[in-house]
Amino acid sequence: MKKNSIIISILFLVMFLFFIAEVDRKEQNALDLYLRQKVHNLNTEYLVTLNGYQILADFLFDESIATPEVLNLMAEANRTPAQNDQTRAYLLQHLTPLYQRITALNFRQLHFHLPDSRSFLRFHRPEKYGDSLVGIRDTVVEANTTRQKVTAFEEGRIFNGFRLVYPLLREGEHLGSVEISISFSALERSLNHLFAKNYLLLIDRRIVEEKVFRDEQANYEFGPMPDRYIYDREVLQKIKASDSGFDMTVAGNLFASAEKIHREELDHWRPFAYPASYAGKLYTIAFLPIKNHKQISIAYLVSFEEDGFPAQHKRHYVFTLVLLSLIFAGGLFFTLYLFLTRQRLKKLSATDFLTGIWNRSKSTNVIRLEHERASRYATPYSIVMLDIDHFKKINDTYGHEAGDMVLKNMADLIGRNIREIDFFCRWGGEEFVLMLPETPLPLSLLFAEKIRALVEQASFPHMGRVTISLGVSQFTSDDSRFDSVIKRADLALYEAKSNGRNQVYPFPPQHA
Ligand code: GH3
Ligand code: MG
Ligand code: MG
Repeated sequence: MKKNSIIISILFLVMFLFFIAEVDRKEQNALDLYLRQKVHNLNTEYLVTLNGYQILADFLFDESIATPEVLNLMAEANRTPAQNDQTRAYLLQHLTPLYQRITALNFRQLHFHLPDSRSFLRFHRPEKYGDSLVGIRDTVVEANTTRQKVTAFEEGRIFNGFRLVYPLLREGEHLGSVEISISFSALERSLNHLFAKNYLLLIDRRIVEEKVFRDEQANYEFGPMPDRYIYDREVLQKIKASDSGFDMTVAGNLFASAEKIHREELDHWRPFAYPASYAGKLYTIAFLPIKNHKQISIAYLVSFEEDGFPAQHKRHYVFTLVLLSLIFAGGLFFTLYLFLTRQRLKKLSATDFLTGIWNRSKSTNVIRLEHERASRYATPYSIVMLDIDHFKKINDTYGHEAGDMVLKNMADLIGRNIREIDFFCRWGGEEFVLMLPETPLPLSLLFAEKIRALVEQASFPHMGRVTISLGVSQFTSDDSRFDSVIKRADLALYEAKSNGRNQVYPFPPQHA
């Protein structure tokens, strides 16, 4: 019984653990999917925003830059380098209205280059020119080499940004290139406006330190994770000025778990998202790597979205786990309780209250089974029926309770002296039955005699000697029911009584 309940408990526990593992896996998958979707969303937001600027840039280039006036000035710049200063001044004057208009539209740069990728005119820094962009601005070099439009995010010597570099061609003649670019702060403004989230660009610090003009590094600021990244100053200033409740302290705190848990992703510029909380607010933070035109990641676009879903999800998950645990514990407890109660009832209904040995109803079942087995395999079994001699007198002399003690002591004594396979029960009153499997009559007679002698020699409290009479019968193939075997034992017992008691009789009687 103990073993069974242990097995049941283990089974329950295994099932429970399996269930928990399954729930855990499902919940984790759901959250992973949700977070992956957040990165995907960020990518879409970035591309959609960029696309608007790209269409506008293409239009401006076709309408206002690839014009005969501009192309002629660039041809002039190439032909007579000595007079470049004058050509540059003309170009600056000619396109300043355009430059003012495009800066109002959030474009930041308009930058002309000669075919060898030397800077010719930066509208945002007209005094800085003549420097070669080879090795610095691969988009420009590529546009000049392939004579194809090149678009990519790229670090420059002054600003970071998304570059659109157009080759300048006049009837097949290559005159250089022009770049229109969108600063990240412009992108951030549009993103923020369109999607109502906060965005930051985390630029690879080493790239800025390598590329940017010394005197232009003030366009950048350090912020959270200063070992890795540097930030666009304009964006930081805008964040500082805004009253959205989001600032670099919030960002820094939200980045704490990125540095701890997502170090591996950060090291390899992988996209990822995670939930975090700061100052009582819940956020989902998504990291999207931004690549340059050589497909090398040089920055992370990060979005901060106020989003209670993952925390809610987690609460729901914990609640589910607790509920499941309670249900399982309750189920286990209830099952064990039922199991134990059933075992106890079964035992109670099968045992005799006074002596603790099997009762008559259990015995008939056991004897019936043995009878069927013996009938099928033609093996012998014997029944010994025994009855205390003059028990009425014992009761009358010593009292009913003393009689009870005799019954109990008798059951103990006989119970201790039978084989493991023998079946012993109280048949009723002061009558007991022994069923001896695999035992033919001669052996069971010997055995009955041994019991008789044992009882005769035992000393019972108060009354001393008590004797019993025994009737023995053996199953034969003629016995279709076990009752007839018992009946013969009963008849034998009657014979033993009639012939003087304290003796063993078989039935049928064995005559010499
Ligand atoms: P015999 O030698 O012929 O068997 O004589 P006996 O007195 O033992 O037989 P009888 O059948 O006349 O009496 C049996 C007595 O056993 C009667 C009954 O009161 C008593 N008895 C039956 N069950 C119990 C019991 O549980 N406790 C006690 N104390 N007495 C019981
Ligand atoms: Mg009796
Ligand atoms: Mg009797």
